[in-house]
Amino acid sequence: MTLEKRCPCGSEIAYTDCCGIYHAGTQAPLTASLLMRSRFSAFALHHAGYLLQTWAENTRPATLNLTDDPTIWRDLKIIKVKKGGISDTKGQVEFKAYYDLMGEQHVMHELSRFTKTQGCWFYVDGIVKATIQH
Ligand SMILES: [Zn+2]
Repeated sequence: MTLEKRCPCGSEIAYTDCCGIYHAGTQAPLTASLLMRSRFSAFALHHAGYLLQTWAENTRPATLNLTDDPTIWRDLKIIKVKKGGISDTKGQVEFKAYYDLMGEQHVMHELSRFTKTQGCWFYVDGIVKATIQH
């Protein structure tokens, strides 16, 4: 598969069959880890609207402007998922996000919390465990 068509979330699936479905609003992610992946892709593609839309109301920023964000998101590795399944209403996803900034490679290790309201998953907040430059 060509690099342009591959989904930024690292799934090895075409964007249009992966996070693209959620970004287009055709379907809502059924699990917290699918929402996590689609939000990573939204950061990678500067899709601020989707990020705001999937942010829990009480922690959502008023605005989000990614237009001039110089971060290049490279890859996502999900490390651990706690709950966050189809029948859950809360979930935690631990992941490592790989990105380039100002020509340097970085890894952000984060634990994100998710909540489900009226059948839809939302991102609540995250604890950054480490940011490593390498
Ligand atoms: Zn994806």
